[in-house]
Order: sequence, then C-alpha cells, then structure tokens
Amino acid sequence: MFDKILIANRGEIALRVLRACREMGIKTVTVYSQADAEAKYVKLSDEAVCIGPPPSNLSYLNIPAIISAAEVTDAQAIHPGYGFLSENADFAERVEKSGFTFIGPKAETIRLMGDKVSAKAAMKKAGVPCVPGSDGALSENANDIKDIAKKIGYPVIVKAAGGGGGRGMRVVHTEAALLNSVAMTKAEAEAAFGNATVYMEKFLEKPRHIEFQVMSDQHGNAVHLWDRDCSLQRRHQKIIEEAPAPGVPTRLRDKMGQRCADACKKIGYRGAGTFEFLYENGEFFFIEMNTRLQVEHTVTEMITGLDLVQEQIKIAYGEKLNRKQRHIQLNGHAIECRVNAEDPYNFMPSPGTISRFHLPGGPGVRMDTHAFGGYKVPSHYDSMIGKLICYGATREQAIARMQIALSEILIEGIKTNVPLHRDLMEDLAFKEGGVTIHYLEQKLNKKT
Ligand code: ADP
Repeated sequence: MFDKILIANRGEIALRVLRACREMGIKTVTVYSQADAEAKYVKLSDEAVCIGPPPSNLSYLNIPAIISAAEVTDAQAIHPGYGFLSENADFAERVEKSGFTFIGPKAETIRLMGDKVSAKAAMKKAGVPCVPGSDGALSENANDIKDIAKKIGYPVIVKAAGGGGGRGMRVVHTEAALLNSVAMTKAEAEAAFGNATVYMEKFLEKPRHIEFQVMSDQHGNAVHLWDRDCSLQRRHQKIIEEAPAPGVPTRLRDKMGQRCADACKKIGYRGAGTFEFLYENGEFFFIEMNTRLQVEHTVTEMITGLDLVQEQIKIAYGEKLNRKQRHIQLNGHAIECRVNAEDPYNFMPSPGTISRFHLPGGPGVRMDTHAFGGYKVPSHYDSMIGKLICYGATREQAIARMQIALSEILIEGIKTNVPLHRDLMEDLAFKEGGVTIHYLEQKLNKKT
C-alpha cells in the first residue's frame, strides 16, 4: 500500500480523506492556504505545507505548488477530493507525469466526460439512456437548428458542452426565441468556458435528480453502489441527498445500476464515479458523469457499509475490487443535510468565528465536519461547513433521527441553514418522498 498520500483539498473532505488514510496506516500530507493554517486536519496530518495566500487560484488551484509539495514531502499519491482540481484533466496528467499516482480516473477519461457532448456520445454508445436531443454539437445552420428543435419538441434546453455548476444553459419555449438563445448561450459559453460549442436537449419539466455511484478497478471489474436522490436543490446546488431514491421500482434500480457498471467497463473507467440522471415518468435520462468522489458519497457509505475513500485508494494502488455486485447489499436508508454557513432565508454567506458548537449524536447519526468551537469560517471558499448524515432501517426512521439531530445541533456565532433543514424535515411533500428538482425553489418563493 502507499506510505504517504497528499490531500489536495480543504475543509470537511480533507478531514474525511485524512481519516481514511489514518485507518489504513497511510501517512498524510495536507496542503493549506494562509486562510486555513489553523484548520483541524492540518494539525492532525503528519506533514503540512502552505501552498499560498487565501484566494484559491493562488493556493488550492495552484498546480505547481501542489506538485512541489508532493515532491518535498515524498508523497506517492494525490487525492483531489471534490471541487478545486478534482475534475481537471491537466492536473491529473501533471500529477502522473511527475511520478505520482492520481487517485481518480485517467486524464483522458476526465477529458472525455468533461465535455458534455463527447460524454453523451460515449454513454449513448455504451447503452446508457440519454435525454433526447441533438446528435452532438449544434451546427451554425439556422434551418438545421430549427429542425432539430421541432423534432425534439418544445420546450428545449440549449447547453454548453463545457458547462458546469449549473451555468451555461438556456431554456427555449418557442421557435421565435430559438436562434437568439443559441447565439447567447454560445457567447456566454465562449466567455465562461473558452468553448462555444453548444448542444440541445428536450427540456424535462418535472424531473427528479437521481444518480448512481460506481466503482471500477484497473482490471476490468466494475460495480455500482446503488442510487441517490439529490432533487432538493437551490440554484442547482444540492442541499439534501438521500439513498436510495424513494419510490424507484427495484427492478428498474437494478437494471440502471447494471447499465452504469457496464458502461464503466466499456469506457475503461477507473475509480469512483457518478452517473447523473434526470428521472421523469419512470424513465432515466443521463445528463452527465462526475469523475470524482462526491459530497454526498456518505449516504452511499451508510447503505452499503463500504468506505468509498478507502476503496478509491485501494483501486489507485492497483488492487482488484474485492466484491462482486451480488455482495453489495442495499441496507436501510440514509439522508444527508449539507450544513452551510449562510443565512437560512436569503442565503447570504455568513463567515466568521463559531462561538459555540455542539454536535448531535445517538444511533445512526454521523457528522462530517472540520469545524469546532472557536473555528473561524473563512470567507474565501464554499460556505459548506459540514454534513449531517442520519441512517435508519427505513426512510421514516432516518427522517425521525434527522429531526432529532437537527434539534440537538447548536452552532452559534455565525448563521447556518440549519433552520431550513428543520423546516424541510417537516415538509409533507418531502416526507412523502419523490419531489422534483424545482420543489425547493418553489417552496422558497412561496415564503417570500
Ligand atoms: P452542470 O454540469 O452545470 O451541473 P447538468 O447537465 O448536470 O449541468 O445540469 C444541471 C441541472 O440543470 C440539472 O440538475 C437540471 O436541474 C437542469 N437540467 C439539465 N438538463 C436538463 C434537461 N434536459 N431538462 C431539464 N432540466 C435540465
């Protein structure tokens, strides 16, 4: 096994990876910006290297600084976490060319999946159902564009091939608005992602967001670890996730999971990954693949009993998956609430010092957080300060435990979205299960 791994990330995921390494007897190197010098995981790691000032482009996105940190500490592998450089193919390539192992897929796979047009084409070829749409990128020809939209049927959505984080998309309801919308999306895509390529899809009006977790080794084996429902979103940011997705028929879940695992074998995937789908009227439509560990991997860990970070590390080292699909059981139900340092109603970030901090506990309660009483939440990064995860034998039990945990949690000195989570755990439609991706915003709009 590796002796030493460098963790190229911060916050709760840096701590999560550090814990996985310590359990496996692997030494850790953390890298940190000047804003994170006092972080808990920095003190817990075997070695720590400051890689720059607070802004992420000068620290957590600074590839030469991170590679130098691996060199001076003799780390053998680099775990990118999520966000930052985790889906940057150039980074993965530089890591491997410098003689380190990148804990993630090959650079070429990241590149293939990072372009939504090539990702969709690869998935279609591998037998994964996709949203009906243009066959690849849209041409410059106005009549062709109109024909495609007519064939798909309005409303359609124009999406940037290089888009991400919910940006670079535009919904079009009528032919009169079509060409102008395509031109605007192209211009925005060029400016934001340096790639003006756009494509078109049917706009699904009431979908749920359901994704499948996969894990593939370097020896041609791949399994799926079931599904997660992440429909509760605001501005395309997930707020609550759960596993499994409520109400999906067992046979359909099995079939889709298997399709995803088969697709991994076909594209020679390596490591952990997620196939994201929109789910409407009992049908799944692929939208994109995430080639990294996700924030919500925890709910999958709770229902499968697997440690996904440790699995990632073992696969990167070259080990074979030690479980066949039939050995991966789906047990019980898990829900995750993302705890953000922000105003629960207007969502303004709320950085600052946490004065009092008490975590909930009890059976089935897990809190992944790097925060503590006295911790200063920096203003430079994402506002997520932790994840509260509750597990139960049934969905009802998981919700009941989450309600209790949310009543116990105490974070003072900064604002958090805990009150919103308390509201949502009492929400009748959420309790019923299966709300669409628009549900949360509609509910919030009603309030204001
Ligand atoms: P990103 O990489 O920016 O997250 P995605 O392709 O995953 O882009 O889409 C982000 C979100 O946009 C989806 O979760 C969904 O809410 C919405 N969306 C994308 N494609 C469609 C579609 N064809 N119909 C309806 N909504 C869509």
